[in-house]
Amino acid sequence: QQLDFISFFHGVIDRFEMNVSEHITLERDLPQGLYDVWIDQDKMAQVLDNIISNAVKYSPEGGMIHFKVSKQNGQMLASVTDEGTGIPHDKVDKIFDRFYRADKARSRKLGGTGLGLAITREIIEAHQGSIWAKSKEGKGTTILFTLPLVNKKRRGH
Ligand code: ATP
Ligand code: MG
Repeated sequence: QQLDFISFFHGVIDRFEMNVSEHITLERDLPQGLYDVWIDQDKMAQVLDNIISNAVKYSPEGGMIHFKVSKQNGQMLASVTDEGTGIPHDKVDKIFDRFYRADKARSRKLGGTGLGLAITREIIEAHQGSIWAKSKEGKGTTILFTLPLVNKKRRGH
């Protein structure tokens, strides 16, 4: 469906806000305007759920999770930043692989299968977007992804 990503994103964050521990702060840096994208709503909800669940899962008590959306070369750029454990430099690109878990011991304790981000990448790529991560061990992680913006029909055409 074609819809405004900003209100969609707000809706997903609202759901997390109701369930997440009060020790984690969610901070939104989302623009006012409309960001029309053509997406499968259920799949995109799964994408955001996976990314935000990871941010929550790997965040310390009192951590902040920051959401941002902007325009970049005619595309939408969205990001989710946490102040969690971070990912070692040489492992950042592997986290989108199937069954990959950066910290085996901790991941086992926290649960999960290591499929979350692999599925997330498949969905983003099926929407003609791309996804990557930036991370500093001990400082936190940012997951970024792009989606094509719908070109508004020009008047008179
Ligand atoms: P699942 O999502 O299937 O429940 P998972 O969270 O371990 O399990 P992914 O979501 O695919 O799997 O993430 C892969 C690995 O990347 C994680 O095990 C973790 O090591 C690392 N990772 C992902 N997101 C973060 C993050 N925000 N902070 C630190 N490490 C992360
Ligand atoms: Mg996960």
